[in-house]
Amino acid sequence: MRTAFISDIHANLEAIEIVLADIAGQDIDRIVCLGDIVGYGPDPNPCVARVRERCEITVVGNHDYAALGRMDTLGFNEYARAAASWTAQALDRPSVAFLEALPLEVVLDGLHLVHASPLEPDRWTYILSYQEAKRQFVAFPEKICFIGHSHLPIVVEQLGEEIRAISFTPDVPVRLHKDRRYLVNVGSVGQPRDRDPRTAYAWYDDEMGAVLLRRLEYPVAEVQRKIIAAGLPPFLAQRLVDGV
Ligand code: ZN
Repeated sequence: MRTAFISDIHANLEAIEIVLADIAGQDIDRIVCLGDIVGYGPDPNPCVARVRERCEITVVGNHDYAALGRMDTLGFNEYARAAASWTAQALDRPSVAFLEALPLEVVLDGLHLVHASPLEPDRWTYILSYQEAKRQFVAFPEKICFIGHSHLPIVVEQLGEEIRAISFTPDVPVRLHKDRRYLVNVGSVGQPRDRDPRTAYAWYDDEMGAVLLRRLEYPVAEVQRKIIAAGLPPFLAQRLVDGV
């Protein structure tokens, strides 16, 4: 069984279309979405529709929560806050109904799926240090947890007390050992932040026992044009070419 994981689409329709087209050629059996379908980008409703049509399982992200008015956006920077209120008024009824029904976390065939962190998933913790990773590994019993949220693709491996980060190089399979545990960040479809502006997603093949990261060019200029036309902050257009 080969499962594709898409995350942090952020209403970037051009990016999700490229990813879904690529998935069609990767021998994928099913697609999981790890949340943040909306927020920042200009196409929230078409992106929700794509996820609803194509993903077998979807968990909710903090920007989905913000657009639904389920959390206050005081912790957001000014751009995220402006985008959240723009998105809240742009969402149509079917999109709202879909987002409102999404769970915070799911266990699927022994895989833990959550947007930000398995420990207190509605606190939206970023896992950016060994210390934080250590806290998170005790919060799920499964062998592998798939996450998004930081927009930084990485594989974190735990063996006993030891935790190490394995760089997630595109198209190089990372083998997952049977006696170790993993946190796998699949990167961001719609707003990469690792200074590589290409869209990102990952797949996991349980027979191969490996994960693989894909990075693909998509029409960034078209998305930038739509962001400006929508009246969203111009910084949100600029960051897409910088990959930050
Ligand atoms: Zn996000």
